Amino acid sequence: MFVDIAKIHIRAGTGGNGAVSFHREKYVAAGGPDGGDGGAGGNVVFQVDDNLSTLLDFRYKRKYAAQDGAPGAGKNCTGKSGQDLVIRVPRGTLVKESESGLLLHDMSDGQPFVAAHGGKGGFGNARFATATRQAPRFAKNGMRGEEADITLELKLLADVGLIGFPNVGKSTLLSVVSAARPRIANYHFTTLQPQLGVVRVDEGVSYVMADIPGLIEGASEGVGLGHEFLRHVERCRLLVHLVDVSGSEGRDPVQDFLTINRELEAFSPELARRPQIVVGNKADLLSGPEAQKASDALRGKAAELGFDYLTMSAATRQGVDRLLSAVWSRLQELPPILTYEEQTTLAASAGRGEKKTTVRRGNDRFVVEGEWLLNLLGSVNFSDYESLQYLHRVLYSSGVYDLLREKGIKEGDIVSIYDIEFEYVN
Ligand code: GDP
Ligand code: MG
Repeated sequence: MFVDIAKIHIRAGTGGNGAVSFHREKYVAAGGPDGGDGGAGGNVVFQVDDNLSTLLDFRYKRKYAAQDGAPGAGKNCTGKSGQDLVIRVPRGTLVKESESGLLLHDMSDGQPFVAAHGGKGGFGNARFATATRQAPRFAKNGMRGEEADITLELKLLADVGLIGFPNVGKSTLLSVVSAARPRIANYHFTTLQPQLGVVRVDEGVSYVMADIPGLIEGASEGVGLGHEFLRHVERCRLLVHLVDVSGSEGRDPVQDFLTINRELEAFSPELARRPQIVVGNKADLLSGPEAQKASDALRGKAAELGFDYLTMSAATRQGVDRLLSAVWSRLQELPPILTYEEQTTLAASAGRGEKKTTVRRGNDRFVVEGEWLLNLLGSVNFSDYESLQYLHRVLYSSGVYDLLREKGIKEGDIVSIYDIEFEYVN
């Protein structure tokens, strides 16, 4: 089964919590804080694997989580970092965020891509010790790793795409010009998945040709198989449009040619403008003036659209070499294979949630919590008036006081933010 779209869920590891611990030693009174930091959570990383050609594996496994970081411990021991989770995908896979549909990365080069970053480990209490706060009784919790629903979409990377009706000889051509061994048979839709073949022009000089399963009329509206595969033509720099010029199946070559072009146009006008080399295949079956007329008509139609035209027989290999060199010289002039620009990162789409603050009403106090507050508290010197003023300014400007008022706080109520408490003043 060929699968070229998959939806999965990825979650990077949570960071380990920082430890609250105090140095203990016989005969040493009141040891200092020695709680170590938590380890970082593992990342979720995508990596190209050229042995893969479909996204089939993702049909069976949909949840992918990297390891969490271990918590810190006493004696300033840092927790172990969580291991990265590496997800292997075929080359040409687009990694998209499902919710927004935006592209996170195009897996076209061989570089690994960190899609979801593991959460940082929390600072242990040793980190919060200052001259004015020698025994901090709090540590930071590890941060959650990034997490998202991901859509994987395979768009093959090939220089040349073979297009045309079923049975015109696409698979046959690919099998004679490359080491690829696609199935060849005299019935429609023998090719149920795109096949890639490497065409060697010369020592170290080659290009990639893809056999795209047959398009038929109505394919772009979802009739038949073809339209699913059109996405694989999108990146091809050049299309080789095969037409059965012998009319061996009783169709008119010019009509075939126009029908396929209409399909392309309906799927993507941009694709319809992609350069084509039109090839009249099965020329070995051509005989007599009628056949020659059909070929000339096709040549004329191709020329009208500005496309080159060649005749060939994939079966007898006549004209095949001529086609290969025509393709090669065209490729020299064409821009490189299209790769897509990244549109977002998980951090960017989560950005809004980062400064999240929660206010709970406890029995006799208002409890304020939020990751960012811990960072803030870590930097405040509580015996310093200026520093305290700063804290209140930040609480004010970041809307914490608004939240407290929404929860019904009154003058004189107690506000508790981790290890600090103060009376609310209106
Ligand atoms: P595809 O559906 O376009 O991939 O077509 P195939 O490569 O599977 O070929 C369909 C049929 O046409 C097979 O029976 C091939 O042997 C035959 N065929 C392909 N190329 C030629 C050719 O140049 N001449 C002749 N006579 N038959 C061909
Ligand atoms: Mg085929």
